[in-house]
Amino acid sequence: MIQFKNLHKRFGKLTVLDGLDLDIKEGGIFAILGPNGSGKTTLIKCLLGMVIPNKGDILFEGKSVLKKWEYRNNLNYLPQIANFPPNLSVIELVNMVKNLRPKSSNEQELIQLFGLKSFLNKKLGNLSGGTKQKVNLVLTFMFDSDLIILDEPTTGLDPISLIHLKELIQKEKEKGKTILITTHIMSFVNEVANEIVFLLDGKIYFKGSIDALKKQTNNNNLEHAIANLI
Ligand code: ADP
Repeated sequence: MIQFKNLHKRFGKLTVLDGLDLDIKEGGIFAILGPNGSGKTTLIKCLLGMVIPNKGDILFEGKSVLKKWEYRNNLNYLPQIANFPPNLSVIELVNMVKNLRPKSSNEQELIQLFGLKSFLNKKLGNLSGGTKQKVNLVLTFMFDSDLIILDEPTTGLDPISLIHLKELIQKEKEKGKTILITTHIMSFVNEVANEIVFLLDGKIYFKGSIDALKKQTNNNNLEHAIANLI
């Protein structure tokens, strides 16, 4: 579905992606892991056209996306930091996003799921970080999409919301969707991911199933297996 080919990205003198090659097949949950600053968000932003690589290509269903970004209208993206307009209310923002994408949406179900009904008329600027993240999740999952990209989706979530998030992700997987997730929470990876993509030194250091990672590192504990990988 997605191919990153010899992708390079520098910020000034800092090389973040250094000839990265990666194929993502359609269907399944891919956890994108790596130390802080290893380029996970940069990789996702290159895919979204928010960062322009210095060299290399990105193919989406076989076609280069570096000049044609239409496919972005058909994917769902949860940004790591939601820069919501502070003076809008939750419902105003939800309705605004709904109007931008004239597709059927299931925002009422998600508002109910994440317990946001009593927050609908509150200004976004007055919400806690965890509540903002729930709004972020509603905006991400309210439309149907074949590709879902979640950058640190668990940030600030209470345990019940975390369970709802895992269920939402599993449901999308069962529908055959492709889901890319960056996270630091290994228990979350253990529960939801099919495949691990580990970035180091601007390249893919490991790609494979959790079982393959445990086997390669000779360690049955995922956190220790990842620590042993480097
Ligand atoms: P990760 O998501 O793995 O933590 P990032 O992709 O956010 O890593 O960042 C990789 C490196 O690139 C970091 O050192 C970060 O400071 C740097 N970086 C990211 N975006 C920019 C930018 N727009 N300008 C300068 N440096 C950046």
